Amino acid sequence: MSKKRLLLHICCAPDATVPWPELISEEYETAGYFYGGNIHPAAEYERRLEAVRMLAAETRGELVLPAYDTEGWFSAVRGLEDEPERGARCAVCFRVQLEAAADYARENGFSHLCTTLTISPHKDAKLINAIGAQAAAARGLEWVERVWRKNDGFKRSVAESRRLGLYRQNYCGCLFSMRDAAVTEVK
Ligand code: SF4
Repeated sequence: MSKKRLLLHICCAPDATVPWPELISEEYETAGYFYGGNIHPAAEYERRLEAVRMLAAETRGELVLPAYDTEGWFSAVRGLEDEPERGARCAVCFRVQLEAAADYARENGFSHLCTTLTISPHKDAKLINAIGAQAAAARGLEWVERVWRKNDGFKRSVAESRRLGLYRQNYCGCLFSMRDAAVTEVK
């Protein structure tokens, strides 16, 4: 029986170290989709992209790299610059990323969609799964609901990232999270 085609939205390489191989070992033919427009500045995007490429080589998974669309991302979150992490800006950010992945999946013959975002202990997995399910359903795709941080998923991802020598960032990704991380460090 042929495997189901799944597009895995990847927020960063470390967070994909557990989901990507697990989905491949299940019933899914899995390709990774690294959105990236929420990662700033460009040099940081390049660093994270290199880590994603390393992981793709390790998992031997197909990797989809859309154009680095910071303009689209900034325009989507306009007015939410001062929101704290986990606030309204993050909900919009999840939607932008998951809708971009869902568009690609629909246009390229995938039947299933999933994300690595729920491995992070800092993110609202319930909200992420709700947004992903909506984006998938609106395009006739099936959402694969997972909370990857369960069963020590986050801890395992940290160990696996170390083993593979993957770059691990110290802020979520956007300019605003970078600013807030710098303020916290100074305090
Ligand atoms: S803090 Fe992270 S999730 Fe929130 S808007 Fe920035 S990049 Fe997106």
